Amino acid sequence: MTDTHSPLTRYLIDLIQQEGPISVATYMDLALSHPAHGYYITRDPFGRAGDFTTSPEISQMFGELLGLWCVDMWDKLGRPDPFVLAELGPGRGTLMADALRAAAIVPDFIKAARVAFVEMSSILREAQKKNVPSASWYNTFSELPAGPLLLIANEFFDALPIRQFQRTELGWCERRIGLAPPQSDLPFQFGLTQDAISPELLPAPVRNARLGSIIEICPLAETIVSQLARRLQTNPGAALIIDYGHLESAPGDTLQAMKNHKYVDVLDMPGEADVTAHVDFANLREKAEGCAPCEPVQQGCFLKALGIEARAAKLRQSATPAQALEIDTSLARLTEQEAMGKLFKVMALTSPNVSTPAGFAE
Ligand code: SAH
Repeated sequence: MTDTHSPLTRYLIDLIQQEGPISVATYMDLALSHPAHGYYITRDPFGRAGDFTTSPEISQMFGELLGLWCVDMWDKLGRPDPFVLAELGPGRGTLMADALRAAAIVPDFIKAARVAFVEMSSILREAQKKNVPSASWYNTFSELPAGPLLLIANEFFDALPIRQFQRTELGWCERRIGLAPPQSDLPFQFGLTQDAISPELLPAPVRNARLGSIIEICPLAETIVSQLARRLQTNPGAALIIDYGHLESAPGDTLQAMKNHKYVDVLDMPGEADVTAHVDFANLREKAEGCAPCEPVQQGCFLKALGIEARAAKLRQSATPAQALEIDTSLARLTEQEAMGKLFKVMALTSPNVSTPAGFAE
């Protein structure tokens, strides 16, 4: 019989047959970053011809404003020279290229910046190299060079593997992915472990959610934010984390998969669709011990506070009518409540005793 499954589906079927059902985190990790067949390893997923579009790919204004945010923050930090200008999961490198172009109005900033990318995909590293030839590359946050730090992460944390737990009569049991019965539409199905975990593992505000509720945690995100916070205690610096997610920890299944700009079943086509989950900003903030986290704000408010409307007006002055329309459409997509303005949140972390970053309340 011929095997109609993709290589990654085949791999997961074999894995589950040998070892039993796997956690959602293992599934997500393999779907996105299996060394041969993972989603980010095998393709450049961005743009109209890809599966999804991110803010820097929508408009140059996004990266430009973040570049100016960095210049302002660098000034607030006392203009350290040299400093590490890091980005986690830079995609095509578009954000950083736009940021550096805007930041070039302060040549000393550019002279002092050592651009460092944390990226696991060699295909995307190639794209990043074209857009930002001066960068150096690292596999994880903890490998970044030492020293003062400015860091940006846009749509990085949503790609980190989550674990899911469901409240049953037994307590909080972990959701697992096992094999579906033959003839099912999908090769996999969700199930639950028989043993409950200690509720201490879960964010305190949701431990008492009612029966049937699903809770998500993202251990890797928590680890990275704790490492980042520790680093900001001993080195001057600041970080900006932008992603879709919620300001308060709340129950809910936010695992989603996207292919060709449409939602697809998470259990269909692993390795062929982008699998993500919403970011729990309240939980991350709690893990940022010892540094100064700012109250997260909505992306729309943040970009407006940084002057996106003035930037759009300036670009419109030298635009053709078609370009002007595109500028207006991008502005609306990035900032309006029903587009990305409300769902996306921005959180800043800074070293202690640094002035409040631009775009956040004093
Ligand atoms: N920030 C970009 C891309 C977002 S997509 C933008 O806004 O357009 C997620 C990015 O994170 C991709 O570059 C992906 O390859 C990278 N990535 C995802 N998980 C990662 C991990 N665990 N380690 C390093 N890079 C990762």
